[in-house]
Amino acid sequence: MPKGIFNVPVAYNEPVRSYEPGSEERKSLQQTYDQMWESTLDVPMEIGGKKIKTDNKMPIHPPHDHQHTVGYFYDGDASHAQDAIAAALKAREKWTLLPWEQRAAIFLKAADLIAGPYRDRLNAATMIGQGKNAFQAEIDSACEIIDFLRFNVQYMTEIYSDQPMSDDGLWNRVEYRPLEGFVYAVTPFNFTAIAGNLPSSMALMGNVVVWKPSDKQMLSAGVLMEIFNEAGVPDGVINLIQGDAAAITKVCFDHPDFAGVHFTGSTSVFRKFWTQIGANIDTYKTYPRIVGETGGKDFVWAHPSANAKAVATALIRGSFEYQGQKCSAASRAYIPESMWEEVKGYMQADLESIKMGSPRDFTNFVNAVISKDSFDKIAGYIERAKKSSQSEVIFGGNYDDSKGYFIEPTVILAKDAQYESMCEEIFGPVLTVYVYDGRAWESVLDTVNETSPYALTGAIFAQDRYAIDTATKKLVDAAGNFYINDKPTGAVVGQQPFGGARASGTNDKAGSAQNLLRWVSPRLIKETFNPPKDYRYPFLGQDEM
Ligand code: NAD
Repeated sequence: MPKGIFNVPVAYNEPVRSYEPGSEERKSLQQTYDQMWESTLDVPMEIGGKKIKTDNKMPIHPPHDHQHTVGYFYDGDASHAQDAIAAALKAREKWTLLPWEQRAAIFLKAADLIAGPYRDRLNAATMIGQGKNAFQAEIDSACEIIDFLRFNVQYMTEIYSDQPMSDDGLWNRVEYRPLEGFVYAVTPFNFTAIAGNLPSSMALMGNVVVWKPSDKQMLSAGVLMEIFNEAGVPDGVINLIQGDAAAITKVCFDHPDFAGVHFTGSTSVFRKFWTQIGANIDTYKTYPRIVGETGGKDFVWAHPSANAKAVATALIRGSFEYQGQKCSAASRAYIPESMWEEVKGYMQADLESIKMGSPRDFTNFVNAVISKDSFDKIAGYIERAKKSSQSEVIFGGNYDDSKGYFIEPTVILAKDAQYESMCEEIFGPVLTVYVYDGRAWESVLDTVNETSPYALTGAIFAQDRYAIDTATKKLVDAAGNFYINDKPTGAVVGQQPFGGARASGTNDKAGSAQNLLRWVSPRLIKETFNPPKDYRYPFLGQDEM
């Protein structure tokens, strides 16, 4: 047990590398990308420290070149989920007893491995497997996951330091126990950092984890697992499984030792989870923690006093970086008539200069969307917008999946503020703009608030301070992350804790102590130094006659 009250290194945000032409970092990342591209990488499941391959060998194809195969992962079935739970529960016996500073050291080491020797590999895997350009990979699979790991260690010690007061003659202490049982992490394709954070944040707090990544993120999931292993995560503490998501999930949710789920993904899947867990409530030894960060229909609202160039830049970056496949991506905009022509002009100039193609060519701002299913769904919205009398496609609108799943950054102008692409999550490079009469800006705020079931991110642009104040109040429930004169994407760990309410999730703010608190079950210990030896309280004495 510890013989010191240790301070952990003060967390700081990992500096973002620029990868500018001629830089060593650019050459090194390109070399690693090329090596990975030419290799055939194997991503086995990992259960109790054992690498498991099955006969269900699944190819990994880059979204920007779907005929190329960069590796394979292996689909498991319900039996692998059972094995992963058993391995986790076995590992729990020792993991929960390990002093916290040993856990901290493991994940601080993981952060340093990613900042150093694994940086290029994890970034290249994210570029190839998930179709991110070098900068989008750097802010995700390098900086954000490093930040999660370092800040979570600091938050853990802040939580542990939160102790009750003690009266004379006694000592009150709280220990922050891991949850009793195993926890389940289900992660999305679009952020390597989220895939790494969901299992590791729970393990850091002393839990044992069954982790099912998205089948579209397996290349970088494999590298993350290598890093966890090299950092010293003991066998069975984080178990990676893959296969039929519904079947694996059923095994986890049917288990009496299921203690919590940490999910990021779409709203519909999370709602199914909640229903399943609710139906099983009599099965469990403890009430499971249910944490889910889900979809968004994120807005940008401009007041007539806004700066048009700032609005246009936020729309371009917010809507089209990573092809709009961020839960926080701007996807509906409300622009006053008086400013629209100017905003449109700036956007047109930007869009004409934007290149689309493989992330291997660093001059490409836009790359491919993740899969055929995504491509078809997004193309459906574009085609319907071309045909509808309620909308007009004013920029982009072309798409081609002959080599990769490429969709041009597309802007739809909606005549009706309730047009489908103003309301539904598309998860692609499609922005819909509604142009409004600037005199009605206050009532348009009601439209912004009421249009979508989601409440993840939103941005307002204005110079007028009264307008900023009014919008901030009127949109109080419309976004969990609210931006003033800034784009709605790009939350930084330690600075903008991230999460939304309504249909966007439980808002447990990844990258904050609040999230880590969901993965502990505090035990209060009261110790009395000189316990009473007589049951009688003074009030029981006789009144004097
Ligand atoms: P998804 O819901 O398709 O998949 C997420 C995970 O759930 C994957 O691991 C997948 O295999 C699993 N899954 C899918 N169907 C399942 C089922 N029936 N049973 C059990 N598991 C199942 O989401 P995605 O396409 O990977 O990611 C995009 C979605 O995630 C978008 O809706 C986006 O808004 C959301 N997202 C939200 C946040 C946030 O912080 N709010 C962050 C990133 C992504």
